[in-house]
Amino acid sequence: MSGRSSPRAKYYRGSTDGRRPLGHDPLAKVRAAYDVVVIGSGLAGLTAANVLGKLGHRVALFEQHYNFGGLATWFKRRGGHVFDISLHGFPVGMIKTCRRHWTLEIAQRIVRLDSIRFDNPQFRFETAFTRADFTEKLVGVFGAERSRVEEFFAHLRAMNFYDANRETVAEVFERFFPGRNDIHRLLLEPIAYANGSALDDPAIAYGIVFSNFMSSGVYTFSGGTDLLVGLMRAELERNRVELFSNAEVERILVENGAAVGVVVGGREVRAGAVLSNASLGTTVQRLVGPGHFEASFAQGVSAVRLNNSSCQVYMGLTEGATIPFVTDLLFSSSRERFDSRSLCDFHGESRTFSFYYPKTRPQSERYAVVSSTNANWGDWAGLSQEQYEREKAKLAADTLRELERHVPGVTSKLDHVEVATPRTFGFYTQHPEGTSFGTKFEGLEYSLKLHEQVRGLFHAGSVGIIMSGWLGAANYGVIAAAKLDPYLAGLATLAAAKGR
Ligand SMILES: Cc1cc2nc3c(=O)[nH]c(=O)nc-3n(C[C@H](O)[C@H](O)[C@H](O)COP(=O)(O)OP(=O)(O)OC[C@H]3O[C@@H](n4cnc5c(N)ncnc54)[C@H](O)[C@@H]3O)c2cc1C
Repeated sequence: MSGRSSPRAKYYRGSTDGRRPLGHDPLAKVRAAYDVVVIGSGLAGLTAANVLGKLGHRVALFEQHYNFGGLATWFKRRGGHVFDISLHGFPVGMIKTCRRHWTLEIAQRIVRLDSIRFDNPQFRFETAFTRADFTEKLVGVFGAERSRVEEFFAHLRAMNFYDANRETVAEVFERFFPGRNDIHRLLLEPIAYANGSALDDPAIAYGIVFSNFMSSGVYTFSGGTDLLVGLMRAELERNRVELFSNAEVERILVENGAAVGVVVGGREVRAGAVLSNASLGTTVQRLVGPGHFEASFAQGVSAVRLNNSSCQVYMGLTEGATIPFVTDLLFSSSRERFDSRSLCDFHGESRTFSFYYPKTRPQSERYAVVSSTNANWGDWAGLSQEQYEREKAKLAADTLRELERHVPGVTSKLDHVEVATPRTFGFYTQHPEGTSFGTKFEGLEYSLKLHEQVRGLFHAGSVGIIMSGWLGAANYGVIAAAKLDPYLAGLATLAAAKGR
């Protein structure tokens, strides 16, 4: 999980090839039964667990990884480095979600990014990433008619999820801005990095996410993901949610058509309901087993397409080294024209750079840069170890070359360069094909209807693009908890009636 490019950069060998045995029993304190078991601590799982805990339910959350947060996570490296995985930017709606369903302290730490830049052969500029600024750019830089731009934004805003409109993103773009590949790039490239959207995806999913961003720009969490997840854990504990890491759920127990618990670490833990934050396909095919679903439902889930995976290059500056403020988020590409597919190219030309200055973690003086590229599992999965190391080193070298273009001299200031690939994401999340953003649109329907197939079985996690990304995942956790709560109330009523 590494690559070296600077003479001073340490070549880090991660342990993606196996798990070390633990010195303790991670399930030592687990009880025999809970009201709800949550599988997975992504933002959807954590948020659902918190909402249910606040409602007074006894909740146990099992996470297979040693850390909590799912893809909203971080890691530390020798030399004082801390790297965030997916803290690049999310819409303002996260403030409301955190205020309502987490804490005021968490909500108040969500701050707007100061600067976002695009740099590609078609255009270069800084943007506030709002409807007002995009309108000015579309009219002033791209020469689009103001009335057309207004109509485009109004169209997206008016899109309603329940209209079942199957128009694709490309069709909408062509209708409003025919033949304008440069405009299509502006409108889609940043969203593709946040949730894997592509030109052939339904416009409705794109429209919702894009409009969310356009309402007020791009936000981040001041203090880093480690602080965020720490604050979330404290709140979960206040709400008596019991958290277990290094605890992989092997099976969801189903009796008489209802989910009644899980097998975790070889033990049975009973529950009134089970909420899975693992991938949709994993939940149905591996954890429950297709035999518990109608055949057409199980087949439908197998046919749901996965979203792409990612590669990242983590670059840490030596203690005391600095770089001038460049921007917070840089959409950088040397590719002449835009198309969705090329964003995942094995030796791609497009990437985002997230710059982490001391303002990101006001408690630290360190600087880091993380480059993210969308990626295909198939390009990385079959490589021999030797090819794998070679390709990671190439990715690191290409990335550093590109970063030098924006920040001359930065390479000499780095003492840690490390690469993650779809294999890394697959290993740490157990998501099939290391998917970064769950499933394509059709997955949403199955995810929402899981409990109609197996009573008491719910899903919350990245599906359908809409429920992906930090905001989408957290909000889906709230939605799933709101469905699960009356189910538990129904069970309690039934139990009381039986006891009478
Ligand atoms: C490189 C990258 C960049 C991103 N950038 C952005 C961005 O800029 N903005 C944005 O909004 N979003 C971004 N995202 C997406 C965002 O991070 C995710 O959409 C979101 O965090 C997903 O949350 P989730 O709840 O779906 O679950 P996940 O984060 O996928 O977590 C699922 C959890 O379930 C656990 N699990 C799975 N199986 C089991 C099991 N059997 N037993 C126990 N635990 C299990 C996994 O270990 C994992 O912790 C990015 C993602 C990546 C990879």
